Amino acid sequence: MPPALLTLNAGSSTVKYALFAHDGATELARGTLEETGAAAMARALEVTQQAGVTVVGVGHRVVHGGARFSAPARIDDEVLATLEGLVPLAPLHQPHNVAGIRAARAAFPGVVQVACFDTAFHRTRDFVEETYALPRRFFDEGVRRFGFHGLSYEFIAGRLREVAPSVANGRVVVAHLGNGASLCALVNGRSVATTMGFSTLDGVPMGTRSGSIDPGVLLYLLDQQGLPLKDLEALLYKEAGLKGLSGLSNDMRTLLASDAPAAREAVEYFVRRCARAVAELACAAGGLDALVFTAGMGERSAVVRARVVAQLRWLGLSLDDAANEANASCISAPTSKSQVLVVPTNEERCIAEAVAAHL
Ligand code: ADP
Repeated sequence: MPPALLTLNAGSSTVKYALFAHDGATELARGTLEETGAAAMARALEVTQQAGVTVVGVGHRVVHGGARFSAPARIDDEVLATLEGLVPLAPLHQPHNVAGIRAARAAFPGVVQVACFDTAFHRTRDFVEETYALPRRFFDEGVRRFGFHGLSYEFIAGRLREVAPSVANGRVVVAHLGNGASLCALVNGRSVATTMGFSTLDGVPMGTRSGSIDPGVLLYLLDQQGLPLKDLEALLYKEAGLKGLSGLSNDMRTLLASDAPAAREAVEYFVRRCARAVAELACAAGGLDALVFTAGMGERSAVVRARVVAQLRWLGLSLDDAANEANASCISAPTSKSQVLVVPTNEERCIAEAVAAHL
């Protein structure tokens, strides 16, 4: 049977997988397993057998690589222990990632396993971008703006060299607008700034996450209202964002279809914060040669793109409406000062290529 690479993204209740040919470039299959742990890996084995391939390398999406990992890492006992040690930094995601790695090592014994981190791509930012204005010991203890969605940004940076070589080495802001959302400033294909910070809560609002919020609000809720810590966590991760503000849904399609004032305000809050983030990151990049939209809303919602760009008209940005409606790859008007592009992301491909490089 021909050799293949398997990518795994282990969450709390499902495992997303993709199968690639040995080169890491040709996708053979992808899907979601509605199980976790050993049961998911048994299903993954079935999938590979149905596809008629032998898995020779497994790549794992791991949310947190801490300060140590700035590139994908081949997993051995020591690396796995390090990833486990990072659980306190991402308690909602990292345990599932680690459990997925353990299960995959048991199901695919002797097969090369590689961890690919959402944080690694952002390790190129300077100290000032990575720190908070706290006493410096906090930085040394790991209280940093790590940034996330790095596999998506890395994929986009590579893809720009193919689809938009004139801007790939320039100043680009990438807006990854999915259920989770963040933006990243690239200069010469490297991350120089990003909106997410210590956790995946920071930056623009998301489906159910708050985005940036005055820490004074959290102190008030904890101290004056006596909100239990677990309730605060649930509020910020699961009950805030588009869902909380609209009182209707975390799904942008539902909100755009609704006439309810709260739904309209939630959408306006989202696009306004996204537009401001573009401007902030253009400042960090020293200019803006291109704005790139990606992920669910970025790739498929002409309305969201149009409304974000409309708030950036003062920067000289404008769209070709027909191209935008068609989800074309270049959607800016010829007179726009910066190109506006739609580039579908592919985090699995980024992982598969990392595995191929380790074989
Ligand atoms: P995840 O971060 O979970 O991978 P996605 O990248 O799939 O999420 O993005 C999901 C978001 O994209 C949801 O808010 C969904 O409503 C939105 N979305 C997907 N397609 C469209 C569309 N055609 N118009 C507006 N929003 C869309």
